[in-house]
Amino acid sequence: MKIIVQKFGGTSVANSALREEVVKRVREAREKGFRPVVVVSAMGREGDPYATDTLKNLMLSTCACGEQSLRDMDLIMACGEIISAVVMSSTLCASGIASLALTGAQAGMVTDGNYGSAQVVEFHPERLLAHLRSDEVVVVAGFQGVTPEGEINTLGRGGSDTSAVILGAGLGAEKVEIYTDVNGIMTADPKLVSAARIIDHLTYNEVCQLAHEGAKVIHPRAVEVAMQHNVPLVVKHLEEKAAGTVISAESNVLGEGRFGEREMRVITGIAHTTGLAQLTVEMGADEADLELEIFECLADLRISIDLISIFPQQKNFTVKEEDLSRAESVLKKLGVSYRINAGCAKVAVVGLGMRNLPGVMARVIKALSDKKIRILQSGDSNITISILIQEHDLPEALCTLHEYFRLDSPSGEDERVLA
Ligand code: ADP
Ligand code: MG
Repeated sequence: MKIIVQKFGGTSVANSALREEVVKRVREAREKGFRPVVVVSAMGREGDPYATDTLKNLMLSTCACGEQSLRDMDLIMACGEIISAVVMSSTLCASGIASLALTGAQAGMVTDGNYGSAQVVEFHPERLLAHLRSDEVVVVAGFQGVTPEGEINTLGRGGSDTSAVILGAGLGAEKVEIYTDVNGIMTADPKLVSAARIIDHLTYNEVCQLAHEGAKVIHPRAVEVAMQHNVPLVVKHLEEKAAGTVISAESNVLGEGRFGEREMRVITGIAHTTGLAQLTVEMGADEADLELEIFECLADLRISIDLISIFPQQKNFTVKEEDLSRAESVLKKLGVSYRINAGCAKVAVVGLGMRNLPGVMARVIKALSDKKIRILQSGDSNITISILIQEHDLPEALCTLHEYFRLDSPSGEDERVLA
């Protein structure tokens, strides 16, 4: 049995015309001999009646105390995908394709009990396989699973991508297709960089970095699971014919043009995250215990910190603005002096080709300083350089770096190195 998993995001199932496009994609896959498993997100965006944010807001407005239990939040949010799965499956049936909707729990997704950001710890494929054998298209509600005790969990924002890949890995699917509202993974978010271009082929590693750094077109956990199980992934537009972006383990060797076959781009793409606050903590050089205590307290509160620079008398790091007041309460409690710079954004330049290539950071600094954009902090790992800037500089910073590294040019022109 040749299985394919096809995941459709919120904007791809938002209305009946779009759901007819989904039917076309399912039919095409069946004509190619695949047994499709369809994964759907909740229909539409905030304001649409059954969208995730609408359900969330319903809870926030219902409970005046603002103290919704995490369990209730997950229960209500899981409904969005269940509604979407039932509507999609009945649309398929109405088009003459035998189909059945399953919740995450019914589809065999077992989660770890971590409300709001659960991980799938087991997948039991038997029921799903039985339906596929009898030639039914199974539509699975994404973004959710059930604990061994029977509690419903959600997987966090973008979690339907992860549901799709887990199904793909567990069912031994030939590939997982992620349908969305853009033509594939692009060199930057097209909403901010009009010159952004589709990338035909990427490695798991590069997409993982881009996704972790904020390219929300795919969830980072989905890419990690795909990488672990070597599941080929394709990201493409629901309505357009473009082939989309193929993600696999092979390197993104360009393989064409005057540089020969073993050349690759220095920079693959640029991702960004907004809503960050930079914290600067001052302390005496001999206060190592206090330093440890700060980071332990933040970790105990599950506040994730990033761009950490530690100097003897100064520690810099960033937190999400939504975690800022909790982070501040830690610093106040410990009696340290600190400064806050809110309204920050992080820009991350990602590329396999920058490994072992000196001077990329210098060029990032040059490009931004030419435009008088102030760099507040920086960090790097082997294929990523990140810089922190004020959020109001973000659109210009993205466009400047995109142009500077020639990302709008399909061949990358002179931006290539030996693989
Ligand atoms: P879905 O509902 O299909 O899951 P998302 O809104 O989660 O869709 O993701 C698609 C959006 O991701 C696009 O509309 C685009 O604005 C944004 N995006 C951010 N970075 C990128 C990128 N590098 N390539 C493509 N899209 C990106
Ligand atoms: Mg998404």
